[in-house]
Amino acid sequence: MFSNPFRKKGIWLKGNLHGHTTNSDGRLTPQEYIDFYYKSGYGFLAITDHEKITKIDSDKVVMITGIETGTGRGENGHSYHVVLIDVYDNDEIQRRRKNSIYELFDWVKANNVIAFIAHPYWSSLTVNDLRSIDGYLGIELYNTGCDIECGKGYSTVHWDNLLASGREVSGIAVDDAHRYFIPPIDAPGGWIKVKTETRTKEDILKALREGSFYASTGPIFYNFESANNVIKADFSHVKRVDFISEGGAGFTITNDMLDLIKYGDKYRKYLSGMFKEFLENIEISREDDRETFYGNVGKRKVEVVRDDSGITSVRLEGYIFRKYFRLEITDKNERKAWLNPVFY
Ligand SMILES: [Zn+2]
Ligand SMILES: [Zn+2]
Repeated sequence: MFSNPFRKKGIWLKGNLHGHTTNSDGRLTPQEYIDFYYKSGYGFLAITDHEKITKIDSDKVVMITGIETGTGRGENGHSYHVVLIDVYDNDEIQRRRKNSIYELFDWVKANNVIAFIAHPYWSSLTVNDLRSIDGYLGIELYNTGCDIECGKGYSTVHWDNLLASGREVSGIAVDDAHRYFIPPIDAPGGWIKVKTETRTKEDILKALREGSFYASTGPIFYNFESANNVIKADFSHVKRVDFISEGGAGFTITNDMLDLIKYGDKYRKYLSGMFKEFLENIEISREDDRETFYGNVGKRKVEVVRDDSGITSVRLEGYIFRKYFRLEITDKNERKAWLNPVFY
């Protein structure tokens, strides 16, 4: 079970855990890479050149060494790309990965190395491929480079199928940038925000291991609680909120749906999902430009707050999803943020 970063004391730091420099096929030198992300407000970074460990220190951002390594072969014939964080012994990594992906992951597990499966969609990996190995902390649910290169940025289907089969893996967003300033620009596009006790590498790694972070391409989560049958989240303005669970057990709330409830009596009956049962039992209150939709049917309650710019808060009571749920929000520019899953 991942820890809830919003319950933890500490500071939020923005980071990118996958990127390339001139030490492999990237367009920025390691120092330019640091300067680029520092100017964009990042607090920690990994450089993950292909089959090379790039070592560089910085007094601006916390640097974590890393590598991207290719190994094994999935059902569709493509190799896995694996991002390893806080690693130093490239000879060992090269020896292991050339032998087999299983040997690499035996080493990952024995040494408690942080590993992420890079861009499963881009690599044409199947969920079987991802299930055939273990020892990784998470997968890249979003990869900016793969998105702008060939429309394969999002691996959320892989993620949900792993979660549905009981694999408690986290999801990160990364840039995997190569181009930076050359259109189509591939950074900064996706990041994680880690809640860390202090601004040190050790605490950032600890927070990563605990799952004390969320992924984003824009929106910000301000708070999240899930306890005693109540789920509550506050966030920057969005047009859509998805509670995603196994099969069709989740549901979606959109600004359009709220408009329909508010204005479209005639079409209300066509509402689907959870709102259907609230049709006869929904109250709307307004305070300045803040609108609260409050639905109550027996043990189940829902509260959605929005203003003219979008939805900013959702509270559910009495809802139990199937196996797990995760929360995904989407703003008016189609940028998204993803919380790590909560398992039952
Ligand atoms: Zn790759
Ligand atoms: Zn890469």
